[in-house]
Amino acid sequence: MTHATQDRYSRQILFAPIGADGQARLRGSHALVVGCGGLGAEVANLLARAGVGRLRIVDRDVVDVTNLQRQALFDEADARDCLPKAVAAARHLARINADVAVEPLVADVNATNVLELLPGVDLVIDGFDNFEGRYLLNDACVRTGTPWIHGACVSGEGLTTTVVPGRTPCLRCLNPEPPPTGAVPTCDTVGILGPVAHLVASLEAAQALRWLATRTVPEPAVLVTVDAWDLRLHRVTLPGPQPACPCCGERRFEFLDAALAPAIELCGRDAVLVRAHSGGRPDLDALAARLRPHGELLVNEFVLRFRAEGRELVLFRDGRTIVKGTTDSALARSLVARWFGA
Ligand SMILES: [Zn+2]
Repeated sequence: MTHATQDRYSRQILFAPIGADGQARLRGSHALVVGCGGLGAEVANLLARAGVGRLRIVDRDVVDVTNLQRQALFDEADARDCLPKAVAAARHLARINADVAVEPLVADVNATNVLELLPGVDLVIDGFDNFEGRYLLNDACVRTGTPWIHGACVSGEGLTTTVVPGRTPCLRCLNPEPPPTGAVPTCDTVGILGPVAHLVASLEAAQALRWLATRTVPEPAVLVTVDAWDLRLHRVTLPGPQPACPCCGERRFEFLDAALAPAIELCGRDAVLVRAHSGGRPDLDALAARLRPHGELLVNEFVLRFRAEGRELVLFRDGRTIVKGTTDSALARSLVARWFGA
């Protein structure tokens, strides 16, 4: 280890469970952050500062001004320029720690691509804002034996637990099925406190550093819940993996095997993601020329953003569109067809 490295991470090396050996292991580690919003952006920030050698960051959305209340990695220029979160995160992280190799991926993580994200990765950190993504990630991580850290927050509360397949219970051991749509509060119904997202992200990052530096988790496995408003923390001791669990017990990967919905509602954004129905990549410049007379337009190297009639459509280079200003999937698909064509 060079003097500069020793100096930079000296306070963390002084922390005995990490030490110089743990710091070297962090440097040789590769972490995947899926979802770069309230949780993922802060996890990525903390892991980059801690000197985790490689970070792959995947997110499907662009920075929006409503993100800035809690997502401290981003700023007003990112929102104004309509930058994808993964790209904006990579640019900020390069200025925070130039020694970390950051790989930004602007993509919707789904059953068709999640397994491609995992090879070479030591640990996955959940920055999702939806159950669909987490159950899919649980399937992918259990199937490949990849540890992952689950985190979630809404309103003034949050929770986190670490899943090490075969050693600790997986998400489906704890909750065999995701809650039905509308059954639990979400960020769009009850909001989210910025500090809660940072609290849960910090706990996720601490457990990520522990795993990457030492390959250990608290034993027995625990789930921690926090209420930042009323200052309550609960540590729940978990049982071992459940033999009857459909995922890690019976090894049925129902979320990996599920068909892709053509459109899904996005948590907290009054928005719908419309998936591309053909493999072709859209010609954003040609489309921009056609749309310019009809509304407000922004094109950059990553997206085309079109605003008209009180709605906003963001078309990504991979052919997906996020339609903001509605939660009606059918309406969103018809808007995409109307403005962007088939
Ligand atoms: Zn399980």
